[in-house]
Amino acid sequence: METMLKSPCEEQHPREAEDSHRKHEQNNKLSEGIKKDIQKLYEAVPQLANVFKIKDKIGEGTFSSVYLATAQLQTGYEEKMALKHLIPTSHPLRIAAELQCLTVAGGQDNVMGVKYCFRKNDHVVIVMPYLEHESFLDILNSLSFEEVREYMFNLFKALRRIHHFGIVHRDVKPSNFLYNRRLKEYALVDFGLAQGTPDTKIELLKTAQSEGQKGSYLQSKPTVTLGNGVSLSVTASKQIAQQSASKASNKRSSSLSKAEIKQARGGKEESAHHSVQRSVFGERNFNVSTSTCQENSSTKLIKQSKIIDISSRKLLIKKKIISTKTVSNGAARKAASGCPSNLTCDCYATDRVCSVCLSRRQQVAPRAGTPGFRAPEVLTKCPTQTTAIDMWSAGIVFLSLLSGRYPFYKASDDLTALAQIMTVRGSRETIQAAKTFGKSILCTQEVPAQNLRTLCEKLRGTNSSSTRSKGATHSDSPHDPALPLDMDKHCATKSLGKEVQHLQSCQEALDGALENKAIDRKGWDHVPDDAYDLLDKLLDLNPATRITAKEALLHPFFKNMRL
Ligand code: ADP
Ligand code: MG
Ligand code: ZN
Repeated sequence: METMLKSPCEEQHPREAEDSHRKHEQNNKLSEGIKKDIQKLYEAVPQLANVFKIKDKIGEGTFSSVYLATAQLQTGYEEKMALKHLIPTSHPLRIAAELQCLTVAGGQDNVMGVKYCFRKNDHVVIVMPYLEHESFLDILNSLSFEEVREYMFNLFKALRRIHHFGIVHRDVKPSNFLYNRRLKEYALVDFGLAQGTPDTKIELLKTAQSEGQKGSYLQSKPTVTLGNGVSLSVTASKQIAQQSASKASNKRSSSLSKAEIKQARGGKEESAHHSVQRSVFGERNFNVSTSTCQENSSTKLIKQSKIIDISSRKLLIKKKIISTKTVSNGAARKAASGCPSNLTCDCYATDRVCSVCLSRRQQVAPRAGTPGFRAPEVLTKCPTQTTAIDMWSAGIVFLSLLSGRYPFYKASDDLTALAQIMTVRGSRETIQAAKTFGKSILCTQEVPAQNLRTLCEKLRGTNSSSTRSKGATHSDSPHDPALPLDMDKHCATKSLGKEVQHLQSCQEALDGALENKAIDRKGWDHVPDDAYDLLDKLLDLNPATRITAKEALLHPFFKNMRL
């Protein structure tokens, strides 16, 4: 990231990296940094130059950079494409798995498809159809209620599709669900963290590979033709995926034991820069976790405690037990959540550790994803996680849409994230739910569950008693996203001589905002109970009873919508 336009507000309220890059687009002129990056990409994968004109960089994350490019078709028509350049240190199986998700599940029902894949050495570029899309934060407060209903419906369509294939996306959030407001088009992207359910139909999500196999895939380079007759040195994504799959399965048995011992490694947010090696499946493959569960033998004491201060409320959470017992007969395993629940010890809430707890082994569970979107079972390291974790994340997106706040939760660690969930869903409720999947949470202060409608209306400012300027602040929200960024900044930077002027401009902006709101309520005055009922079912703390994508599409909230 080079010359980024930064405002003090953005410092406090960081947008996604990809959002900030959109500003370059608006500048029309490419910065030197982006030009250099484009040049480097042409050099790394020279075949690209035969087909594409790379126009801009539209996204940059820890594990990839995404570019807008055009391809000149023989008809003379220029087609826009998105080129995702994966960091060269990505594990080949990880790359192949991402590709396989796109090729097998993509191209339908709002799931992004893939056109081609280029490779040279360890540089891989995935070519997708380009979908121009909005920045979530920019449009959040101008969306009509009906648009929100359509948005959620289309998100569930995408989730139903990938879940049908046994794909757990693990990183459902607005920047991974592209939305073109004008065309009413949607696309779920980014399978970089996806994992498979035990019965996944995605071959490459069935196994975890050891790091030692890096570089053993993607060796051959078949030729593919683009459009009508344009011949290229291209590697078709499907072929890469298939080659990798066959090689992967050969090595599967030998690699498993290595993967089991490997300590979990970070998801996206834990890797600070580009030199990181992206581990194969974010952390661990579900199936590997399962086998580890069944082979419980070592004894290890783990006792973690941490004090967190949420907006000066001093909610003290002591996470005591983060382990599960072996389930040799499988009977105690919860049917849907999959987490063992036979956790009975007598040291709960005391300052000693009982023998039951002493015999627990350290638990390692998948944790990849974005903290504010993580489900409680992810935050508490439940080893068996299902597609329900994506539904929770969708619930958080819905919560943002209904409340007009994004990001809704912002936490740097799991316990803080859990505490923030408690402030909305209640501490007792959270503790109770965690018990069902075998987790004990100790919380020194009780926080009540909030009524979702009251909460959302208060934050959005649609109830009669509150305005946007006061009384409607979320406890952890660093600035009020309901206000234009500039205005927020103005208000925060009153310099002595210009104070009056600033106050005036603030007042004008506020008047304007309120006026707009009055004229253009866009259906927000009559949000039906169905909306909050669905939200409640998405934010079900218990993954075993949480609504599925298929069920959500049939929820009364979506009546009259065509499937
Ligand atoms: P990462 O793994 O780095 O997050 P993503 O696949 O999420 O990569 O892509 C990053 C960003 O690039 C997205 O948030 C989106 O803005 C943009 N992007 C990705 N794919 C497309 C596409 N097919 N069309 C348009 N923009 C895309
Ligand atoms: Mg992404
Ligand atoms: Zn105990």
